[in-house]
Amino acid sequence: MTLVETLGVVVPTPPEHRTWIPEVEALDTLRCTGEELEQLVAAGLVRDGGRYENYDVWNLGLLSGSGRSRPEREMVFFARVLKSFGADWVSRRRYEITGWAECPRAEDCPSRDWVAPALPDVVWEQEQIQPGRAEWRGQVVSSGMHATVRDPRVRDAWNHLLEQYRFHFTPASLSPDMASTLRRRVGDCEALCRVLLRDLLDLGIPTELEPGYIFGGARLRRHAWLRFADSDGQSKVLDPSMALLAEMFFTPEYKEFCFGSSINRVIRRDSGKEAFVTHPCVTGDNKIYYEFILRPIRSAQESGITAS
Ligand SMILES: [Zn+2]
Repeated sequence: MTLVETLGVVVPTPPEHRTWIPEVEALDTLRCTGEELEQLVAAGLVRDGGRYENYDVWNLGLLSGSGRSRPEREMVFFARVLKSFGADWVSRRRYEITGWAECPRAEDCPSRDWVAPALPDVVWEQEQIQPGRAEWRGQVVSSGMHATVRDPRVRDAWNHLLEQYRFHFTPASLSPDMASTLRRRVGDCEALCRVLLRDLLDLGIPTELEPGYIFGGARLRRHAWLRFADSDGQSKVLDPSMALLAEMFFTPEYKEFCFGSSINRVIRRDSGKEAFVTHPCVTGDNKIYYEFILRPIRSAQESGITAS
């Protein structure tokens, strides 16, 4: 598909959720020429002054099939991460984790009042606070589990979601809006989970949305998945957004894994607390996210990303 043809399958970001990026960033994200960008605008890509809508540009790149765009290259990198450790997705893994947050007032920040990120599986060992910045270091262990879903109602709901919905990068302000997801038929991890969560709860199946992060190569990405009680009494995981991405970028094995199994490359977040930074200078709508880097602590036998 050409980029102009791909534009026809991108569901545009609703006007009230738009966030803007400059032209140089749009060109870099799509890895296209200025001429191609003009053709896209002529075909309907939103432009405001010299700015472009961030999520529309990212979804265009993701779906373009060009192999060059930034979103595609990130997915290819993620596919390599999934193959790392010999594609072992369940063994117990130990990681070093670094988290940090930066104050919008930067070095003018008058406060040393920061709260360590609420990650229940992380043991924070060090806190370093400088003007305008806080950093935490610690360790975390993550393990997965192979499982198959028994309840046929869950399989039906899962298949229905994967057939009817597609993955789109989605503004954080839009993902929780289920009515919008039902209408648009696209969403990110949280948006897709919320639709499936509703479907499973409607069937009387105990299900929860688990927020957290996924290790996609160094930097952690915010992620969400579902945990439900299967008919055999076991607690199992459903990861619809990764299953949809697996169809495009990963393997059929990983898509199947997303249906019941849990992976050793995720870190849970405390679902009772906000994902945003708690700090006196961060007020109102100016929300800031914690950022994290994860480094596997490898034993001698384990193969790394570069070795796979
Ligand atoms: Zn501050």
